[in-house]
Amino acid sequence: MDASAPPRAPLQAPSRAVLPTLAPPLTRSFVGGAAERGEGMRLPVFYPATGAQVGELAEADAAEVDRAVQAARRAFLRSGWASLPTERRQEMLLKLHDIVLAHADELARLECLNLGIVLRELRERHMKRAAYNFRFFAEFIGQAKGEVYDQMAGYRSFVVREPVGVAALIAPWNAPVALASMKVAAAIAFGNTCVLKPSEQTPLALARFVELLHEAGLPDGVVNLVNGRGAVTGEALVAHPDIDLVSFTGGTETGRRIMSVAGRRLKPCTLELGGKSANIVFASADIERALDAALVGIFSNNGQQCLAGSRILVEKRIADDFIARFAERAARIRVGDPMSDATELGPLASAAHRARVLGFVETARADGAKLLTGGEAAMPGGDLDGGYFVSPTAVLAPSNAARVCQDEIFGPFAAFLTFGSYDEAIAMANDTRFGLVSYVWSDHMPTIERASRELHSGVVWVNTPMVRELRAPFGGYKESGVGREGGEACQAFYTESKTVTLPASPVAVRRLGL
Ligand code: NDP
Repeated sequence: MDASAPPRAPLQAPSRAVLPTLAPPLTRSFVGGAAERGEGMRLPVFYPATGAQVGELAEADAAEVDRAVQAARRAFLRSGWASLPTERRQEMLLKLHDIVLAHADELARLECLNLGIVLRELRERHMKRAAYNFRFFAEFIGQAKGEVYDQMAGYRSFVVREPVGVAALIAPWNAPVALASMKVAAAIAFGNTCVLKPSEQTPLALARFVELLHEAGLPDGVVNLVNGRGAVTGEALVAHPDIDLVSFTGGTETGRRIMSVAGRRLKPCTLELGGKSANIVFASADIERALDAALVGIFSNNGQQCLAGSRILVEKRIADDFIARFAERAARIRVGDPMSDATELGPLASAAHRARVLGFVETARADGAKLLTGGEAAMPGGDLDGGYFVSPTAVLAPSNAARVCQDEIFGPFAAFLTFGSYDEAIAMANDTRFGLVSYVWSDHMPTIERASRELHSGVVWVNTPMVRELRAPFGGYKESGVGREGGEACQAFYTESKTVTLPASPVAVRRLGL
């Protein structure tokens, strides 16, 4: 590390009272309202804060996936869910909201146990958001409007929306319940049934989540869960002939694979993929707020967020001071026990992921970047020394072509760039194969207005850290995705539209074969 690097904050020691005791010994798939026997291959589940194994999951093979898809199909055809009056479906969605909220602490602890995100963040942000997803879609379906066309003389046509069928929902490990709940809520709100596959690294909270939905009274088979690796369970699910549509959140390469498998059967897909989002700080910004937000933008969720502001572009006039203060604050971030409220940054989700993230320190050096802070494994002490901690890291890149500016690192790793003019900033921001989100910090209205038009990304956040407006579409340009999530966007994806045309009076029909 640079000799002038700022001093580090003391690491957070483990609070023994809250070390893992919660996880079930075996996490099984949940099909047609009941846990499967769990006879598949056993895979270990680890607590990233200590590296200790906290349980196992039983992997679903193709036969178990088939049972799950058949259960979902039966529920679609026979449970009455697909044809339930909207008001009754809304009542159920609100019950699901309530039960998730009531169990937010339990779900957050389970999530923490195989993910290592700070418990407070999981409880206050992820689980509240998960509950809200059900309320949001309950309200959305209650307000849906119809379409009628009567411009054609003598006819009236109206459009009805019907559920598509059985959805395969594939979730990543970085925010399992928060992201999967959006997919589940959207799919079932429009009358579909589904099979959910979490990442095999993070099965714990989603298994309990699906149980809770049933405890609240959701009919059996409407939501099914299969656990296992992507290449085994995920692939069997996407390729299953009785799946009607696929919603995937995860990495870009996996997205390519899933879309090609689904494409062979012409199944519609939405893909929410990776990002390398620019956080542009103009000299005209409220610098204090921009600094706070730059830290939050890269270090929250332990840096493992698709929408992280991972490339921080700072105008040259303010860059030295801004970057020095960022590095100072980053070095003081409290790294350690994710179950302690004092902790600000927990471990990465797996040993392999930590090795990958730390590998970018060498990549940065090889490309001529300057290490500003961090860049090493962190050792909080005690049991936590076995955990997958990385100290908050920032580098100053020589140019936007550096690999740390082009590759998604998906960890607590910020890459700084500086710019001299507006045009240079926007050109750098857009010079990436990704296009998920952008952040703009400026109090100069023409700059804001122009940047929001010229940035190539699915979302532009101006003078704010990440904030999701669920009514609006969310998704990426370029290799960050295909399709959108959000109110209208989910309605378009999870329903088939059917046009019914009626004559106003009996029509004269041409008489053939007289
Ligand atoms: P992966 O692409 O590795 O995995 C995502 C999910 O897909 C996992 O459940 C995985 O299973 C499964 N999977 C893997 N291969 C296949 C396959 N062939 N068929 C079906 N399913 C498969 O992503 P990560 O879990 O590593 O998540 C991180 C990535 O997700 C990052 O790139 C991030 O940017 C992106 N992401 C995007 C978001 C967005 O909204 N745009 C939001 C959050 C994350 P398993 O893990 O068990 O192998």
